[in-house]
Amino acid sequence: MKLTVLLVEDDRELRATLRAGLDVEGYQVLAAASLADALALWTHAAASGPAIALVLLDLGLPDGDGQRLLERVRREQATPVLVLSARDGDGQKIDLLDAGADDYLVKPFSLGELLARMRVALRRRGLALLPAVTHYVRAGLLVDLAAHRVVRHGQAVHLTPTEFKLLARLVRSAGQVVTHRTLLAEVWGPEYTAHTHYLRLYMGQLRAKLEAEPADPQTLLTEPGVGYRVAEADSDTDRGLHMPS
Ligand code: CA
Repeated sequence: MKLTVLLVEDDRELRATLRAGLDVEGYQVLAAASLADALALWTHAAASGPAIALVLLDLGLPDGDGQRLLERVRREQATPVLVLSARDGDGQKIDLLDAGADDYLVKPFSLGELLARMRVALRRRGLALLPAVTHYVRAGLLVDLAAHRVVRHGQAVHLTPTEFKLLARLVRSAGQVVTHRTLLAEVWGPEYTAHTHYLRLYMGQLRAKLEAEPADPQTLLTEPGVGYRVAEADSDTDRGLHMPS
């Protein structure tokens, strides 16, 4: 069965390109060129189908703020929302991520990038229905969330409690960006959301312990001005059962 994607984009050319690319990949596309059209399609789909599996949401719409659609989606469904952002749309992009969008892409992006982000978002929502992810495995790094254990190339790595909390939060969203505000609120507490220097310090410590070249990280990635992203786990191992003892 085809998954239905709601594509909200007022740029005619980009909308047509994305629609064609997603169609080839086997998605059914509902396309909206304005906030009003998007809200109408969402309402119609909720009432009589097809169920919308994922929303691609452009930030700058001619008749209003894309955040209104995001708020509507979050009130009603767990449907993943990917924000399509212009390079100068940083502030609003962060607001939308903090308001519950799953991820974002900065224009121009390739269809390959978009499809990869869509797969992560769809899989994450699927996993939310299953028992929580307990392991993260990537390129010789193993993180066992339940046992609070980190192993790199077979060697146990000692992390402080705060380092582990930060790493665990990122690993739980592996493949997706997590904003500064979310990380600070969830790792340090809601009163610390302005203390981005904590993040720089602790991410530096984690990279020193976990990356082969801390200055050129391959797993603990920076999303400039937005937050951090742990690279996607090696395929089929983020729920892996095997940890060396
Ligand atoms: Ca636009």
